[in-house]
Amino acid sequence: MKRLLITIPFLLITVLSIAQTTYLHCGAILDCKGNTPAKEQTIIIENNKIKEIRKGYAKASEDVQVIDLKDQTVMPGFMDMHVHVEGELSPSRYVERFRISDTDVALRATQYCERTLMAGFTTVRDLGGTGVNVSLRDAINKGFIRGPRIYTAEKSIATTGGHADPTNGMRKELMGDPGPLEGVINSPEEAHKAVRQRYKNGADCIKITSTGGVLSVAKDGKGAQFTIEEIEGIVSAANDYGFVTAAHAHGAEGMKRAVLGGIHSIEHGTLMTPEIMELMKQRGTYLVPTISAGKYVYDKAMNDENFLPPIVRPKAIEMGPKIQETFGKAYKAGVKIAFGTDSGVSPHGDNAKEFLYMVEAGMPPYEAIKSATVAASDLLRISEDYGTLEAGKMADIVAVKGDPLDDITILQKVSFVMKDGKIYKQE
Ligand SMILES: [Zn+2]
Repeated sequence: MKRLLITIPFLLITVLSIAQTTYLHCGAILDCKGNTPAKEQTIIIENNKIKEIRKGYAKASEDVQVIDLKDQTVMPGFMDMHVHVEGELSPSRYVERFRISDTDVALRATQYCERTLMAGFTTVRDLGGTGVNVSLRDAINKGFIRGPRIYTAEKSIATTGGHADPTNGMRKELMGDPGPLEGVINSPEEAHKAVRQRYKNGADCIKITSTGGVLSVAKDGKGAQFTIEEIEGIVSAANDYGFVTAAHAHGAEGMKRAVLGGIHSIEHGTLMTPEIMELMKQRGTYLVPTISAGKYVYDKAMNDENFLPPIVRPKAIEMGPKIQETFGKAYKAGVKIAFGTDSGVSPHGDNAKEFLYMVEAGMPPYEAIKSATVAASDLLRISEDYGTLEAGKMADIVAVKGDPLDDITILQKVSFVMKDGKIYKQE
């Protein structure tokens, strides 16, 4: 008993001295729960959590940090469900991969991570790289570098010669015969092995390339590249580890197989048919549109003959411009949408341009914002802690000057970024 009496006051003192309280005086809040903005609110943050949201500008005692965001609209931190943190597309990228080391990749990527966070994206899903993405995630979580919270697929899973076979386009002696270890599979058994290998390598989620892709050094950009049995193998193994699965898909056949095989999100969705939209609605499959990537590669292919390799350029011209229109149709049909850009194809830090592209295609501004907050957190299965502004959630908070419901482009100029209760940007 005596010991307990000594311990309790000691604990209380420790807790009191650590607790850091911050008041955000917000001109308006889009909490992503309701449908209208709430004007003149105070968000009370204790350590890394939202403790309370109070009407009006609450007065604070002297030990409280008060941030004036009275001319700003405050939202949950944005989440991008499709990025590649390791790199950025450039004319030299196709030859550079033979020269640069993992260290080079990591050092460059520290900048990409920082730009992403400064653009207001506090969480991203990284859909494929070499494995450096796992180290980047850990370095950010441990505070060595600044960046968003990363959920990574580590290496994308492909089939032989398919989009994301790492040896595509190489001379025969260099090609070898990559297998599940490198994320290349050719049977349901190998599908299981490749997923288990990703788990072993530290992945948080799984990405497959269910059709051909634009940027790979291969002729076909849309044909099916997995059997449905292989996809079912991927999903069944992924479910064992609680991994969310994503399928890159341009053409309809491979996309349909991915949906029927139980994949949780379709990436790009370029040539999606009304039948697939219906299947996705029935199954609750998300579409992650990545309009930014389509527009970016189309623009480069049209205006710079040498930006993309000759085998890639016609695919960019064919596929690029279709994504925005398909997204508009899928949204109107009632398919669930989660925000994603494919940044790494387009430049990191430009992620918020996607909001404009979504609105251009017919999505109301607040719905576009919700696709990057509440919908994305649902896809990632983290909505208990993230995705809305309400008491009990983690303090991932961004703000812009003005009203994004009036002008969606102002989301490209984020003025305040808080992640996990820590302020990273304040203009
Ligand atoms: Zn991608």
